[in-house]
Amino acid sequence: MERELDELVVVTGAGGFIGGWLVADLVAGGHRRVRAVDHKPFHAWHQHLPGTEAWRLDLRRPDACAEALRGAGIVYHLAADMGGMGFIANHKSACMLSAVIDAHLLEAARDAGCRRFFYASTACVYPQNLQDDPDVHGLREDDAYPADPEDGYGWQKLFGERLCRHFREDFGLETRVARYHNVYGPHGTWRGGREKAPAAICRKVAEAVQSGRHEIEIWGDGRQTRSFTWIGDCIHGTRAIAESDESEPLNLGSDRLVSIDALVSQVEAIAGVTLERRYRLDAPRGVAGRNSDNDRIKSALGWAPTTPLEVGLEPTYRWIARQVEEATA
Ligand code: NAD
Repeated sequence: MERELDELVVVTGAGGFIGGWLVADLVAGGHRRVRAVDHKPFHAWHQHLPGTEAWRLDLRRPDACAEALRGAGIVYHLAADMGGMGFIANHKSACMLSAVIDAHLLEAARDAGCRRFFYASTACVYPQNLQDDPDVHGLREDDAYPADPEDGYGWQKLFGERLCRHFREDFGLETRVARYHNVYGPHGTWRGGREKAPAAICRKVAEAVQSGRHEIEIWGDGRQTRSFTWIGDCIHGTRAIAESDESEPLNLGSDRLVSIDALVSQVEAIAGVTLERRYRLDAPRGVAGRNSDNDRIKSALGWAPTTPLEVGLEPTYRWIARQVEEATA
């Protein structure tokens, strides 16, 4: 155990939402050597943790990948050019170019002799025709093929998963893959076009409270469904998958299906308001329904999310409402 805590852990995308929380969790768990890597300027990182190496590198470059992984034992690869529905619907080529990061980072991990390589994939790899009903059944890992993922972002992640598989088979690099389902919590993107539905809704409700204009714009008809995963559950599952013997991709998400309308109602209840809803049917809305089937991760790792949506939304809303206040102060 003591030796493990001295192993160099590299987290890519550490200036982002999940990466920031992962670094915090590693440090809290006693890891003495954590290298946090991102290409954003430091002021734009969501979290900064004392005692870690924080490096600014653009991982689209092979030399930067080699530098980032020098001496690394385990790599958590979370860096990607991505965002919520509004971003991935309108920036497909940018999303796909993250494949360049995946390829160079896997080569660098192989060349550095890394012990483990964790890859952050997504529920967007699943075929769209399995998600055309709000009352969708949970997506099982095997459903990913025959492939028809989300155009752009989903194809990039499916390719990244496949690359992980072949680096394991061809070079013996121990790759592990999680398919995240809608992760939410504080210290993530909440404005600017890359925010995801829970953060966008929290922001809109907080803005309505602040302005006194009690109305909200909702993308789609509000009946589309998703499942939402609390960041703490995501971090716990991420580390469990990374250290497990499961080399096939695993779903990491909640299996509780919630409509966007119900999500808005929950945030309204936390904020203590009721807003008039305006539905924008021409806005990007993604698939009609998406849920996670957790049978495989439960039986392989004993992992299941433990934080109900209403419990996780409370601190998420409070944090975003504070950002809204500070931004307009
Ligand atoms: P995020 O956007 O907050 O973090 C990603 C980070 O990667 C950003 O800080 C960004 O600056 C960095 N990055 C992008 N290009 C880079 C480059 N060329 N070099 C170095 N760093 C670069 O996203 P997140 O929500 O924390 O997601 C983390 C990972 O999990 C991503 O790979 C994402 O695709 C995956 N994922 C997230 C969710 C979710 O709900 N948040 C769902 C499915 C999959």
